[in-house]
Amino acid sequence: MNPLSDALLTLRGIRAYQNFLRTSDRASAEEIRRKQSEWLGALLRHAHANVPWYSARFRAHGVRADGSDPFAELAKLPVLTKAEVRENHADFCVPGVAAKSMKLATSGTTGEPLVAYTSPDQWVIEQATVWRQWKWADYNFRDRIAIFRSYAPKPGEPSIRMDRLRNWAYFSVFKMDDASIAEYAKFLQRWKPRFLRGYPSSLLLVAQHALRHGWRLPGLKAAFAASEAVPPELRETLRAAFGIELFDHYGQAEITCMFHDCEKHEGMHVDWEYGFVELLPSSEPGLHRIIATNLHNTAMPLLRYDTGDLAVGGWEKCSCGRTAPLIRAIRGRKDDFLIAKDGSRMATVNLYTYFSKLGDLQRFQLSQSQAGELVVNFALWSADDLAKRSALSDKIRRELEETTGLSVRVPEQPEFVQTREGKFPAFIQRIGR
Ligand SMILES: [Zn+2]
Repeated sequence: MNPLSDALLTLRGIRAYQNFLRTSDRASAEEIRRKQSEWLGALLRHAHANVPWYSARFRAHGVRADGSDPFAELAKLPVLTKAEVRENHADFCVPGVAAKSMKLATSGTTGEPLVAYTSPDQWVIEQATVWRQWKWADYNFRDRIAIFRSYAPKPGEPSIRMDRLRNWAYFSVFKMDDASIAEYAKFLQRWKPRFLRGYPSSLLLVAQHALRHGWRLPGLKAAFAASEAVPPELRETLRAAFGIELFDHYGQAEITCMFHDCEKHEGMHVDWEYGFVELLPSSEPGLHRIIATNLHNTAMPLLRYDTGDLAVGGWEKCSCGRTAPLIRAIRGRKDDFLIAKDGSRMATVNLYTYFSKLGDLQRFQLSQSQAGELVVNFALWSADDLAKRSALSDKIRRELEETTGLSVRVPEQPEFVQTREGKFPAFIQRIGR
């Protein structure tokens, strides 16, 4: 996207916030239902008339695009899988419109990315929901934000880049060794940001560095997470290092739904203005599948899309008083399971807690290429203490083999996988890809 249309859409997003989203998180249940019903009805009519996949599907399942209850009509459709979208991609796109829309690709270190198109209207609401969360965190226009995501300097470019219009500084997440973070720290202490924003894996490294080396950022108000699951120790580490809270964010490149965490940090509020979310029972007790329908994406409507992510518990209320419903947490991505030799699965989240308790660990990454096996890569802050490394390798191998029953390998030279955008997945499942 060119910078001018980017700025224009951002401005439209701010206006949508001012005119609507600023107060709609406290709308009554009836009001929410009424607005969603209006948007959903329009989307069904549009999908039926213009999207080849749905023209055929509506007929097959008896969906009436102009039915009086759009929710009931929507429920007649089966849940849509990522594989169906990938295999029939062209049929989901509105001919002639999708190609002119913004293009987003799902990331992933393995597997085929899925390309999704978004219409400007959906993008504007997305900007507005993000802006709203920033306001929840007491952001004021042009407050300084230090950003640790998506900046990948080319050879010869600096590791810190300024966006003076917005008052943002970008830091390369490809240079996160001790010496580079020390440079970042010097810059940050001079520049005095009000907020941090970035991949949880990068924010964790910055906060851990600050704790180890005793530097502070007194003017900081909060941190915003983006695009990755939050490791269990991140909130606590940010509090200890900078005395700030983390505001979590959930969304996907398929742009079907978003969730944001408010100043009470009791869970994730659904952005009901953006997507219609259903929680369906899953095979794991206490977890629900997050099934979502984007409400404004006329370029590539996805109806009842299975995000592959799971919600802990069901809909609840938050003590902040906002009516937008809340779920406790989003967890257990479908991919985040280890597969044992007999094919049984175990959630990796238990292992993340184990690693968060090992001292001196700078980072770790798990991967699995074969059932019954697990590869553990890790790096220590004291990288040249080989005796320490060897002792910890033995301990990890012994303890994880005992708890998981898997055969565990710890390479002597760690080899970490980082995505093109600089994300740093804690777990890479290569089986079945
Ligand atoms: Zn709340």
